[in-house]
Amino acid sequence: MAPSDIRMVGGHLALDLVNTVEPRVPGATDFREHLRTPDDLLDWGQRAGLLDAREAVAVRGAWASSPATGDQAVRATHEVREATYGALLAVLGLAADATPQLDALSLRWAAATTRSALVLGGPREPVRLDVGTTPAMLVQDRLATAAVDLLRTVDTRQLRACPLEKGGCGWLFLDQSRNRSRRWCAMEDCGTHAKARRLTARRRVAHATS
Ligand SMILES: [Zn+2]
Repeated sequence: MAPSDIRMVGGHLALDLVNTVEPRVPGATDFREHLRTPDDLLDWGQRAGLLDAREAVAVRGAWASSPATGDQAVRATHEVREATYGALLAVLGLAADATPQLDALSLRWAAATTRSALVLGGPREPVRLDVGTTPAMLVQDRLATAAVDLLRTVDTRQLRACPLEKGGCGWLFLDQSRNRSRRWCAMEDCGTHAKARRLTARRRVAHATS
């Protein structure tokens, strides 16, 4: 699956970042990686609303003139992602501590602020924080900023993980349904697959006992 096919179901950019591996199992390292190359980052980033087409051209140009920076962006993205995931596991009560993850994120975020600028905006946001003034670092800077934004403001009552124990994928998402009833990352795939598997298992049991 190319990054252009990956679903965006998190409800926040930083959750969609966390969900770029599957399945999303705490402590696992044998996951399927969707963000392998600098091109993957630009492809996914534009779909996720991280950067627009014009910015993608500038970033691609910066990476082309200094190829190591593209690979650095991939590594930094993975670091921000895993730090965010680790911190969210602690928020969900699924990990006891997230100090190393928060320290890593803190460094990334501090670096991002040095490559940011305040600029005049419009009526709804009179002064904007323009993160990513250095194109070669724009991707990791915006992702670190988005991760800190999520961790500081997330409504923990809405935060869910697609249930691994029931055959789900472990992706994280915000349940913004009115009656807080969303259980799966997306019913059309994870929920349906898990349901089909349960049905098959039940039929098998019924068959064996009839
Ligand atoms: Zn799922």
